[in-house]
Amino acid sequence: MYDIAIIGGGVNGCGIARDAAGRGLRVLLVEMDDLASGTSSRSTKLIHGGLRYLEHYEFSLVRHSLIEREVLYKIAPHIIGPLRFIFPHQKGMRSLWLMRLGLFLYDHLGGRTILPASRALDLSRDEAGAALQTQFTKGFEYSDCRVDDARLVILNALDAHERGADIRTRTKLVTAKRDGKGWDLHLRDLRTGKSVHERAAIVINAAGPWAEEVILNRLGVDTQSQVRKVKGSHIVVPRLFEHERAYIFQNLDKRIIFALPYEDDFTLIGTTDVEITGEPGDVEASAVEIGYLCEAVSDYFKKPVHPADIVWSFAGVRPLFGHERINPSKLTRDYVLELDESLGTAPMLSIFGGKITTYRVLAQKVWQSLEKVLPKGARENWTSEVALPGGDFAIGELEELVAHLQQSCTWMDNKVATRLVRAYGSRALQIFTQEGKALECGEDFGCGLCELEVSYLIKTEWARTADDILWRRSKLGLRFSKEQVSRLEHWLQEREKGA
Ligand SMILES: Cc1cc2nc3c(=O)[nH]c(=O)nc-3n(C[C@H](O)[C@H](O)[C@H](O)COP(=O)(O)OP(=O)(O)OC[C@H]3O[C@@H](n4cnc5c(N)ncnc54)[C@H](O)[C@@H]3O)c2cc1C
Repeated sequence: MYDIAIIGGGVNGCGIARDAAGRGLRVLLVEMDDLASGTSSRSTKLIHGGLRYLEHYEFSLVRHSLIEREVLYKIAPHIIGPLRFIFPHQKGMRSLWLMRLGLFLYDHLGGRTILPASRALDLSRDEAGAALQTQFTKGFEYSDCRVDDARLVILNALDAHERGADIRTRTKLVTAKRDGKGWDLHLRDLRTGKSVHERAAIVINAAGPWAEEVILNRLGVDTQSQVRKVKGSHIVVPRLFEHERAYIFQNLDKRIIFALPYEDDFTLIGTTDVEITGEPGDVEASAVEIGYLCEAVSDYFKKPVHPADIVWSFAGVRPLFGHERINPSKLTRDYVLELDESLGTAPMLSIFGGKITTYRVLAQKVWQSLEKVLPKGARENWTSEVALPGGDFAIGELEELVAHLQQSCTWMDNKVATRLVRAYGSRALQIFTQEGKALECGEDFGCGLCELEVSYLIKTEWARTADDILWRRSKLGLRFSKEQVSRLEHWLQEREKGA
């Protein structure tokens, strides 16, 4: 019997699993697809306070999100890093004094000790102005952080597992029924088609945009809460500017569009707000959204962006909590926890909404909500101080780790070694070396992705398919040719047959 069963292997489910396993609870997490295959790999990839939420007076959300930036950066410096944002002033939009006030609040609302403060910019002199049209002469610069969203999920799952949690991917919750003693969960292994039954005292519904479907169809419980499903799309184009800062643009409809340096050679542009009613797993960036994003950034950059430039696009669905009459872009990005104890002894907790940025605090709040029904488990909050796997090195030591890895593995060029340290942190040395000597790497599938790494991902990080490896454990999908993808797929099939 598990203490808690978590439905959903996104950032919230995996963050809760880590927190609970570290408190000594018996944890089961089921994910019907791959870890992070839902919204949590389809975000703008920012750990941010959310400058624009200040306009909606969401001061509490902005404050605890701002504090989280540095907390998360310290526990995962390999996958999280500081990012400066250029905010050009556009006549007829938010006034200079309003931008200055917003940034003053952003600097002072909470928790900024490492990240530099905001400052005014003369874009006619700053190199960031060179990529912009000449009318943009004034602006500001401020700090937030970037994150590898999918790896954040996987590292939380890995840490949870290393603390005893049972993580089952490709496993769907079919139904769950409660009796006086807990929940009986009917699960299906989607790879073998086999049904399995497990028992848990508490169910946590962390199914993101599927949360309502899980409550109504899988758990058979009634709810008054509404999840609004709001699609957001992104496009990726070859790098549009040479520096390492990002841009935040105000669009004519008053929405905000980001253009971020991405994976060294690309620019990531997003996002949109389109309400949907269908299955959240099937979403794609539509031609209209692509046109909207291209036009929005072409109003700022000297070199216009065209749909033909796009090398990749993706869409995700925000599971937002709120009433159907509110405009999607004005719905709160904060989360709501709903505890259902109608049968007294078999509680269920549902999570609605939330951000990547707030997943760790959310997991602590889950613990607080369940404390009275779960007498067992350590009470002290612990996740703010303990590094995620591979994150146990000081901020600023990343280059040293890269050099160390290259010294041991002479076949690696700087690009490959940097990718590996950014993905695995200090664990890169454990994966690729033994007693200071390079391990045999096997076939190179392309861009330095070798058999040794693929086997590690299968054995340790629940990877099964080429997509798991090329789009969630890494972003090598941006660089692989069709032939390289086919070769990897073939190798994985052969390995599976032999297993
Ligand atoms: C376009 C966009 C941009 C965003 N940008 C940012 C950003 O820059 N910064 C930020 O902080 N936040 C951002 N967010 C918000 C953030 O991405 C989400 O709030 C967060 O990822 C939600 O995580 P989750 O774990 O709740 O849901 P998900 O990641 O969707 O996870 C839910 C999981 O449940 C699984 N599941 C569903 N039903 C079942 C079942 N029956 N059995 C088993 N498993 C099941 C699904 O397969 C899925 O993997 C963005 C969101 C979007 C859409």
